[in-house]
Amino acid sequence: MPIVKHPYDARLHRKGTVGGLGGCSWHGREDCSEQPTSSYETPNGMMAACPRAELQIEALYGSPINRTQ
Ligand SMILES: [Zn+2]
Repeated sequence: MPIVKHPYDARLHRKGTVGGLGGCSWHGREDCSEQPTSSYETPNGMMAACPRAELQIEALYGSPINRTQ
């Protein structure tokens, strides 16, 4: 099942989570200080992704369906 990619939006993430607080949830706050550029719906939940994380997520799960908004 393909994953879904959105432009990063903190409102797509639960309050208080790394993604909801403007961090990269794929790498985690301690390992990544980059701003997320996308929000992905993955089998492991919503992931906020920096550009480096986008490459890793798409390598792992395959090409996403893009949602523009
Ligand atoms: Zn990152």
